[in-house]
Amino acid sequence: MKYVSTRGSAPALDFAEVTLAGLASDGGLYVPDSWPQFGMDEIRDMRGLPYAELAARVMAPFVGDSLTPARLRELTGEAYSRFAHTAVTPLVQLDEQQWLLELFHGPTLAFKDVALQLLGLLFEEFLAREDSRLTIVGATSGDTGSAAIDAVAGRDNVEIFMLHPKGRVSDVQRRQMTTVRAPNVHNIAIEGSFDDAQAMVKRIFADESVTARHRIGAVNSINWARLMAQVVYYFAASLQLGGPDRKLAFSVPTGNFGDVFAGHVAARMGLPIDRLIVATNVNDILHRALSSGDYSAGSVTPTAAPSMDIQVSSNFERLLFDVGGRDGVALGEQMRGFEGSRAMMLSNAQREGAAGLFASARVDEDETAASIRHAHENWGEIIDPHTAIGLHAARHAALPSQVPIVTLATAHPAKFRDAVERATGLRPALPNRVGDLFAREEAYTELPGTYEAVRDHILEHAA
Ligand SMILES: *Cc1c(COP(=O)(O)O)cnc(C)c1O
Repeated sequence: MKYVSTRGSAPALDFAEVTLAGLASDGGLYVPDSWPQFGMDEIRDMRGLPYAELAARVMAPFVGDSLTPARLRELTGEAYSRFAHTAVTPLVQLDEQQWLLELFHGPTLAFKDVALQLLGLLFEEFLAREDSRLTIVGATSGDTGSAAIDAVAGRDNVEIFMLHPKGRVSDVQRRQMTTVRAPNVHNIAIEGSFDDAQAMVKRIFADESVTARHRIGAVNSINWARLMAQVVYYFAASLQLGGPDRKLAFSVPTGNFGDVFAGHVAARMGLPIDRLIVATNVNDILHRALSSGDYSAGSVTPTAAPSMDIQVSSNFERLLFDVGGRDGVALGEQMRGFEGSRAMMLSNAQREGAAGLFASARVDEDETAASIRHAHENWGEIIDPHTAIGLHAARHAALPSQVPIVTLATAHPAKFRDAVERATGLRPALPNRVGDLFAREEAYTELPGTYEAVRDHILEHAA
């Protein structure tokens, strides 16, 4: 399996290389050069497998020769042993049509753990082989940071610099990052939004004053290995609800378009999926793009679902590449135009290509709170604001009643307990696995929102 850049001019890489590379050198994102296919019988054969075994089966074609099947199976076993539920991603039925897929049973209470627990192990594996070091630079709207830090803290040959927008992540999210005391963990709070932080990270990858001295790696969903790991739970959910002989729909609370792109990949691999519902909050660039072709970024409005407070969705580029004819040169031009003006119209091919599988919805703050209340009053379920956005979109999707709709429950409600308390009057307790989070001391550096400040800080502190 080879990986190619969405912008057509970076070298093709194998899985081990793409895992360590993050962003492609031409500014694009890596995607497999073709989609591995599973036949219906092969998918039926996956029924009943333990999650770690299923993960190894689904990922094997993407990993190619980079790991033996036995080693891949060991790594998935280790990655998923830290989850608090034996099913890893259990399904919960709400009514005849609505289901929740709980993705928050990992160590940091959000779905990011599903991919990052594995990615931490992959980094260690591939770096040890080459005897090299990796400096991870990432931006987080809250959950990637804590999951990535948990996954790499104390590991050999890796260090991590994590940028979060100051004051725009929840207390629990911030403390899950800043109370991890390991010499290879560096937390940075910057003035500005997640988009500002993400733009700085992209510049670091392209800045020779940094890349000449350090090998820079990515833990954001620009890293292919993350998306690959997320494909697995689409299979897991489908297999439990009658797949592949029955089509499901998924409603996915979306920010950077990584999680829902993994659903697109599952469909491309042969998993029958009726529809992928892209659920956004009021930061609705993806809803506008999918419903009218208008991909134009406004400024970010902070909401109760901060992990979705994003205007520029990195992984959307992967979709545009895949449905728009896989023409990297043309897409590179289109994306550079977007980066200049922060606006573009999708081509007809891109719009039609996306319309076959995707639907979208925008859910505002009142609807989010009402959705949290509705789940509690009708089903006795306490859900977090991100999940509530997905569930609102699922309940209002006009799909035939025989199509099950699985909403991805992306965070544990305790991670966003202020918003949950505002909506329901109940304050969800933090699960034991987060320990004495509020008793531990925090450590982080505050920096102004300028690229130079961030770059100089990294150059000064990187090993
Ligand atoms: C990251 C995150 C999202 C958005 O996922 P993307 O892959 O960026 O679309 C949604 N909900 C929660 C809780 C998250 O942490």
